[in-house]
Amino acid sequence: MRAEIKVSGIVQGVGFRPFVYRTAVKNGLVGYVRNRGDAVVEVVVEGNKANLTQFLEDLKADKPPLAQIYNTTTDIKKEEEGFSEFKIIRSSGEAELSGSVVPPDVSICDECLREMRDPQNRRFDYFFITCTDCGPRYTIIKGLPYDRPNTTMQEFPMCDACVKEYGDPANRRFHAQTVACPDCGPKVYLTSSSGEPIDCRDPIRETGLLLEEGNIVAIKGNGGFHVATATTKTEPVARLRRDKHRKQKPFAIMAPDLETVKSFAEVNQWEAELLTSYRKPIILLKKRADYPLSDLVSPELHSVGTMLPYTGLHAMLFDQVEEPAFVMTSANPPSEPIVTDNNEAVSKLGSTVDYFLFHNRQIAQRCDDSVVRFHGKDPCLIRRSRGYAPEPVLLKQVSDRCVLAVGGELNVTSCILTENRAFISQHIGDVENLENLRFLKDSIAHLTKLTNCSVEAVACDLHPRFTTTKLAQEIASKLGCPVVKVQHHHAHAAALMAEWNVPEIVAVTCDGFGYGSDGSAWGGEVLYTDREGYKRVAHLEAQPMIGGDLATYYPLRVAAGILHKQLDVSEWLLSLSNKFPHGRKEAEVIVKQLEKGSAPETTSCGRVLDAVSAMLGICYTRTYEGEPAMKLESTAMKGKDVLNLAPRVEGNVLDTTVLVNEIFSNKDKVSAADLACSAQSYLARGLAQLAVEEAMRLKVKHIGFSGGVAYNEHIKATIRKTVEKEGFKFLVHNRIPAGDGGTSFGQSIVAGFQKK
Ligand SMILES: [Zn+2]
Ligand SMILES: [Zn+2]
Ligand SMILES: [Zn+2]
Repeated sequence: MRAEIKVSGIVQGVGFRPFVYRTAVKNGLVGYVRNRGDAVVEVVVEGNKANLTQFLEDLKADKPPLAQIYNTTTDIKKEEEGFSEFKIIRSSGEAELSGSVVPPDVSICDECLREMRDPQNRRFDYFFITCTDCGPRYTIIKGLPYDRPNTTMQEFPMCDACVKEYGDPANRRFHAQTVACPDCGPKVYLTSSSGEPIDCRDPIRETGLLLEEGNIVAIKGNGGFHVATATTKTEPVARLRRDKHRKQKPFAIMAPDLETVKSFAEVNQWEAELLTSYRKPIILLKKRADYPLSDLVSPELHSVGTMLPYTGLHAMLFDQVEEPAFVMTSANPPSEPIVTDNNEAVSKLGSTVDYFLFHNRQIAQRCDDSVVRFHGKDPCLIRRSRGYAPEPVLLKQVSDRCVLAVGGELNVTSCILTENRAFISQHIGDVENLENLRFLKDSIAHLTKLTNCSVEAVACDLHPRFTTTKLAQEIASKLGCPVVKVQHHHAHAAALMAEWNVPEIVAVTCDGFGYGSDGSAWGGEVLYTDREGYKRVAHLEAQPMIGGDLATYYPLRVAAGILHKQLDVSEWLLSLSNKFPHGRKEAEVIVKQLEKGSAPETTSCGRVLDAVSAMLGICYTRTYEGEPAMKLESTAMKGKDVLNLAPRVEGNVLDTTVLVNEIFSNKDKVSAADLACSAQSYLARGLAQLAVEEAMRLKVKHIGFSGGVAYNEHIKATIRKTVEKEGFKFLVHNRIPAGDGGTSFGQSIVAGFQKK
């Protein structure tokens, strides 16, 4: 008998063909297995019925750890071709099925790490050691099928010893496309800041020593460059912060192992599990009370973003040093994507760094590190990128059309939804300039090619002037398909609904900014959402943004605008003149603007948190997105809700003026920590109350929380308490970012599932 099988899913680049080979041989079958151009694996086997049946069972039961099977089709035929043996044959370019994909990058496995440390092994000290179970995937792939010629390993012809391993069914590098060794694989070298090679025997360990001494080194990785330096010394970190856009932004760090991480941060069991998993994201860990690293690593925050080495190169950096961790921050110029090219690195980073640690393999796909935060045992994805993308999020429902969604403006990702799979791209960043727009376009083209999808609708934000809105229109007119515009908070709420497969939800969606259906700025919303659409059922009070966008950067302006409704704050404002870039002059202009009384308004929850942060003297200037609110949260962790203000609601609007006034009048009597906590509690209790009332009225069982504010642990816990006490089910994101990295997913859901 003969069986023709097609397996779709994540089956290329995960050791699937070697596995099929072994399984076929074990069951005494003949035939072949091959990769196809649509990321599908095709198997033809011949043998007796019992063996065939067993083979099909083994295929499902014993699949390699990284493989994911979405679908298997099997055609059984009587006639045989009469193969003489089982073979892995040359891949075919055929592409008819859609919705399969290549795996994300996988961090170095224990077995490879052991070999790299073994002086008897021929890959001893080889920094790019990999096998069928580990190594870069997404970042080296240029096209499909996933074979060496379609990757950036193409430039490194295998030596005889590697060829032998590649062709040996018993070897753990049998058909591993990234196989390489010190003789034939990529090389690593150290250069000066101008790219002049520096002669040294052991460039990686030398780099470790240079970092420990306080030098700044740009290190090329799999998906881009990191800028690295020491963490226990203040001088190099301060030097790295010279750049304007790095003034306060927390730097991620890398530590050699879990034990060392525990010397500076608290790690719970779930954090430890993910830190050491094959995904190896950055995890925002709580600093220990005796935190020994420089305060400049993550200034004024309670947490420090930490990851473990995910390549052999990273592991070797720590071999000869005492330093507990190195700063490892994405190397990107302001508002530009992470640098990937060696020449580009020298021209763009040369003035910031002292040295470069290069390797000579190209980066096909740029990919930043992922960032995760835990609330207890709940993972909250802040940035879903390396180790995750392009692995799809599996849904319980099937979309009737294939949708491409392009995201909004900040923290953009793109997303392709086909059937029950949502492929979210790697992190793109803020799409305000040409470089990032090009990156977004490239990632869309790549993802479309990899998944072999024909896009039938393009989804984007409702904002008429976003770059991504224009991009969506361009793509749609080229493809001759419709554009679906999705309101920002509707996208957040729909994402939650789809992640939990519920038909309707009352969602609290709080963040910094989203363009409202009435053209005004939203950001503290309670929405009712179902398959038909959404209704804005409640929101925060609209507050003035004195000076428009400037109020986002200098939150005292928001505070002054709110206080001015009931108080004369000109004296207070003038006393804080030095908190504005143009000093007293600027403060005087603000006072005039207050009196004039016309300013754009926003219902943003983020702006209220920012205003409180500035009033309490925690943060006057926003140098990175979310900074004032994040620092407020860190301060609030040391406080209690001492004010216990009762939420004041009028006609489905939560009053925030009363809150800001209370904070103002207590700021010299009560500690900043207690007031910070009280402010967060007021907003959380007020929003929860509104959501519960609406859910009761609408007879909805589920209440959710989404948007960037949902990363705030205290606000989330407080809303949860009220919601659950009232007997509702509380839903939050586990697999999709609550922040704007998740909006492309939400947009695709609205366009894919909504009844037309
Ligand atoms: Zn390995
Ligand atoms: Zn070799
Ligand atoms: Zn948002």
